[in-house]
Amino acid sequence: MDTTLKTFKYQFIKFFQWISWIVICFGVLILILATFDKLPILAFPFGDNWLLISLGSLSIGILLYSLLIYLTRPSGIQNNHIWIQGISARKATAWIVSLILTFFYCILYWWPEYLGHSDAGENTGLIAFFDPLSMYLKNKPASQWFVYGALYTLAILLFGIKFILKYRHNRYQVIRTISVMFFQTGIAFLLPEYLLKMNLPYNDYKNMWPLNYYFFDGWHIQELLSHGNIGRNMLLFGILMIVFISPVLTYFYGKRWYCSWVCGCGGLAETAGDSFRHLSDKSIKSWKLERILVYAVLLFSIIMTAGVIYTFQTGQTHVLGISSAALRSWYGFIIGAVFSGVIGVGFYPLLGSRVWCRFGCPMAAILGIQQRFFSRFRITTNGSQCISCGNCTTYCEMGIDVRSYAQRGANIVRASCVGCGICAAVCPRGVLRLENGSVDLFSRTEKPKPNPQITDSIPYEELM
Ligand code: SF4
Ligand code: SF4
Repeated sequence: MDTTLKTFKYQFIKFFQWISWIVICFGVLILILATFDKLPILAFPFGDNWLLISLGSLSIGILLYSLLIYLTRPSGIQNNHIWIQGISARKATAWIVSLILTFFYCILYWWPEYLGHSDAGENTGLIAFFDPLSMYLKNKPASQWFVYGALYTLAILLFGIKFILKYRHNRYQVIRTISVMFFQTGIAFLLPEYLLKMNLPYNDYKNMWPLNYYFFDGWHIQELLSHGNIGRNMLLFGILMIVFISPVLTYFYGKRWYCSWVCGCGGLAETAGDSFRHLSDKSIKSWKLERILVYAVLLFSIIMTAGVIYTFQTGQTHVLGISSAALRSWYGFIIGAVFSGVIGVGFYPLLGSRVWCRFGCPMAAILGIQQRFFSRFRITTNGSQCISCGNCTTYCEMGIDVRSYAQRGANIVRASCVGCGICAAVCPRGVLRLENGSVDLFSRTEKPKPNPQITDSIPYEELM
């Protein structure tokens, strides 16, 4: 491509990138104005359509930006300045984004009245802004959790498309991303809202104990039982998931069937958190900390749940002198809110996208034990082909030193591996392969295809 044409292409992309930023900022501005009940200052008579305009602007802006970035360059990770750019290198932008996310989570969990939530009267602010969508889906006004669920789902959908564009050469990545988008949108968001519309209990079928830590709460069991057969079936399905469905699937496929294909926390980490996966700590020290923390949280969740069930069965409020209600409430605060929400998502740009999954999720801990000791899943390595480039280790979001296994030609069977397959996707030599027993799901040779556009691609930093 001659220089004039290249310059024109560069200017064209740059121009539309600015357009996409303006469109995204417009969507965010509407949300901010709605939060402070100041939408009328825009002086356009759009009524209820402001919600559509806002979410539409966010969607169009993010999609346009993703198309411009990823369709103008070869697919896959390009290793372009990830340790130099602000947002991916823990520089000022990363800190600002992290502060905003953390601030949002604190308000959401502890001061929802600032978002317009009202127990007594009508909602105002941001929560009232989502009322039309909530009324459409469940015939009830919105709550802060509805707003959160809607934005969370939108983030997984939009960044999921971005992820698919980026890894479009890799069938495994494309299929599992479609899977998390489906489970979040259909099973975690739309279906529970529809159940509420039908005056049935709210139930996210894929969210099982111990991740769903209120599952054995007295109020929840009573609510399910009060809805006859359908409620009893929900209870039975939840228990079956824990004792049968999940262990069987983990035996065959490893913990990836849940952590990388189904779970909403994993879904957000893989899609919106993709740009931060290299920030995971790879040191031995953090591996040791991971093993202590994640099993400590699992133990805490088992003790808390045992106390809650004991109280529900016997009516005794204390077990061995400890109040089960207090245990439950501390668990909800420390693990459910601070660890999984504020740190787990708020710190994406500082600690990587899987901090919660790696150090705190009790569900990941159980699946990890099953994967480590009785699963057919493993990553095999063809050590003789490894050139020690370190791509696999760099982009392992769970902080696993994949290269050290590859250099030795050893199989990777680690409790923490979520089977995301990114190590295999970024390996330039096709050394790594995700396997279930004797079945190869995807060929070891499935790696980035040479793209003739590579010589014409525009330096990444110039696109930012
Ligand atoms: S070892 Fe590979 S498949 Fe496992 S979590 Fe790390 S990058 Fe994902
Ligand atoms: S990415 Fe592939 S070639 Fe590079 S260190 Fe890992 S296994 Fe070896």
